[in-house]
Formats: sequence, structure tokens, C-alpha cells
Amino acid sequence: MGALDELNLPAGVLYGDDVLKLFAYAREKGFAIPAANVTSSSTVVATLEAARDAKSAIILQTSQGGAAYFAGKGIKNSAEKQEASVAGAIAAAHYIRAIAPIYGVPVVLHTDHCAKKLLPWLDGMLDADEEFFKKNGVPLFSSHMIDLSEESVEENISTCVEYLKRMAPMKQWLEMEIGITGGEEDGVDNTGVDNSSLYTQPEDILQIEQAFRPISKYFSIAAGFGNVHGVYAPGNVRLHPELLGKHQAYVAEKLGSSEAKPVFFVFHGGSGSTKEEYREAISHGVVKVNVDTDLQWAYLTGIRDYVVNNIDYLKTQVGNPEGPNKPNKKKYDPRVWVREGEKTMKARVTEALNDFNASGSL
Ligand SMILES: [Zn+2]
Repeated sequence: MGALDELNLPAGVLYGDDVLKLFAYAREKGFAIPAANVTSSSTVVATLEAARDAKSAIILQTSQGGAAYFAGKGIKNSAEKQEASVAGAIAAAHYIRAIAPIYGVPVVLHTDHCAKKLLPWLDGMLDADEEFFKKNGVPLFSSHMIDLSEESVEENISTCVEYLKRMAPMKQWLEMEIGITGGEEDGVDNTGVDNSSLYTQPEDILQIEQAFRPISKYFSIAAGFGNVHGVYAPGNVRLHPELLGKHQAYVAEKLGSSEAKPVFFVFHGGSGSTKEEYREAISHGVVKVNVDTDLQWAYLTGIRDYVVNNIDYLKTQVGNPEGPNKPNKKKYDPRVWVREGEKTMKARVTEALNDFNASGSL
């Protein structure tokens, strides 16, 4: 018997106390749930299939760029309105809400990094959340992420507090980021940043906990402990996941908490990390790990290998090494070659579920 029976979590998209129960259970039992960035129905089903077969909950998230892609690259996406990113995220949410229950696993429906200039995107999604909440008593999304790690700590926290006030009546989860995560993702380039500034200080974590707790208990923190977004040459990254353990002890002491690990941490920039690094971070209260870059690579490899191995069947609609009149329809049907990418992506999600001790947790 696993979490699904113990916690009575429904299959499909979770919200509010069910999200909290899931993350609290993960923190207690020492596992983390992978967050897969999805950009299409194809990447959604590849991820859900992996979670179903591994008997685990899963987090599906769209980035601002991924959401715009979900809507279609041909749609205008203005800086002021972010209309494609708003529409795409909403479309993805409705699709995931419709499809997730038949996979039989709990799903946290999340949106990824939202920097200051992208806040109109979040505003548009929150409008949709409130409208959905009025009709259904639940927000459209389980959770959203705000990334103001490039701003001052004061601005970061005070802006997140305002959003948390808006989200709290819907019991919606907020993930925030503090400290700088190195690397480059969706146009934020931190590759030149001095390494010493990549580590979040315990005082910052405490300040967040003290500011957020009076408003809501539904939040988590992506802290910098040497993480790098994207995959770079080995040797450039010095991860210090033990810092998260120190943060937990510091916050527990200052808050007089009965819990040894009062903070919910999120691991960003994990692609390329070792299994040991993941597991140490998870042992210190990481309940969510973003895996984007490695999934993009995995999705490609299945399609790439299919095309390379079948190239003589893919040059013309009719005619291949078996004869000039032989049709190739069975080879170029997207259900065949896109499916190959789904299989390799599924395998990579499964690996993440195993690495993060999430497999078999249901
Ligand atoms: Zn981040």
C-alpha cells in the first residue's frame, strides 16, 4: 500500500490540501516528484504513461515559451499581454485535466519560471484560475511559479507576497525562487555570474517563511545551491545540496518548529546532476525536481533514430528498397515516428522517477 491509498489522493489534477499532502508525504518518505516541461499533447502523454507504469504521482508544467508553443508558434505573443502564453497554458491545463484521470495518477498541474517581465502571463492565468474557481470551486492550475531571483530579495519577497494573497483563497500553491540559478533558460543568462553568489543564504529562506506563513501554507522555495540550468561540460558545476539541510535546521530552530524539515524545497537546474546529488538534495526536503533539458534530448533521440534507420522509406511517399511501387504510408504516419520520441521521453521520465525514489510511491 502506498501514498494513493494512505492519502486518498484522487487520480487527475490535484489542488490545495491534496498537493500539500502529497508534498508533505514525499518530504517525510524521502522522495521527490519530477516536474516535466510539456509543450504538446505528445509530451504530456509520454510523461503520464511513465508515471502510470512507475506507479507515481507526476508534475506537468508549461514554461512561458512552452505554453506559447502549445498555442502555436503562429500566434502573436505581445510583451504586455502574453496572449499566446496565456492561451497555450490554459489549453494545456484543460487538456491535462481531461486526460490525466484515465492514466490513474495524481497530477500537479504547474507553470514554470515567470520572471518580472513575464508577470502579465501569470496575471492572465490567474484570471483564468479565478473564473474556473467560481464555477468549480478549484483553480484551473494546481500551482504557479514566480521567479524574481534576478530582483532584490525585498522586491522578490514583497511581490510574491502580493501574489500569494491572491492565490491563497483558492488554496493554490506558489513556488518561488531565491538566489541565482546559473545557466541560461528562456532568455535569462547567468553564465557569467560569480559562483559565490549562486548559494542562497539561510536568512533569506527564513525571511520567506516568515513572510509567507501568515498568508498561506501552500508554497515552496527553489533555493540556489550551485544549480545550473541546462547541461554544461562536467566540472563546471559545484552543487552543495547539504546547504539545504542547513537551511532546514536554521528555519526549524528560528521558527521553533516541531518539524525537522519545515521547508519545501524545489530543485531547479538539475539536468546533468548525479543520482547521488539528487538523492542528497531530496534527503534535505526537496520534493520537486525540474527535468527539462534531459527530456528534450530524450524526445529527440527516438525520432532521430527512427528517421536515420528508416531514411530509405522516408524520401518519397511511394517507393523504397522493397520495390518502386511500395507505399511508405506506414512509415511516415506521425503516429509512428512521433511515438518513437514519446517512447524515449517516457524512458527518461521513468529514470527520473527511479532516481528520485518516486517509483512505486502510489
Ligand atoms: Zn529556476
